Amino acid sequence: MSQPFKPVPTELFETLWEHQQGLCALCAKPMPKHRFELAHARLWAKWRPTYDHIIPRSKGGRDVPDNLQLAHAICNKIKGNRIK
Ligand SMILES: [Zn+2]
Repeated sequence: MSQPFKPVPTELFETLWEHQQGLCALCAKPMPKHRFELAHARLWAKWRPTYDHIIPRSKGGRDVPDNLQLAHAICNKIKGNRIK
C-alpha cells in the first residue's frame, strides 16, 4: 500500500487527533503531525499518522468515523500483517 507523503488535514483527522491527543491508537506513543517534525522523509513514511480501521475492512468494517482511529503507518502495517 503506497500513499503520497502528505498530511491529511481533514475535519475527521482533526477530530480523531484531538480525541487521541496525538497518540497512536496502537502503541500509545506520540505521532508527528507534520512532515517537518521529522528529519527524514523515510522516518515520516514510517511514523506518519494513518487511518486505521478498528474493525478491518476484510471483516466487514466500514469507512465511517466510528470505525477509524489514527495510528503510526508502521503500527498500522504490523497490525495489518497480524490480522488476516
Ligand atoms: Zn504506533
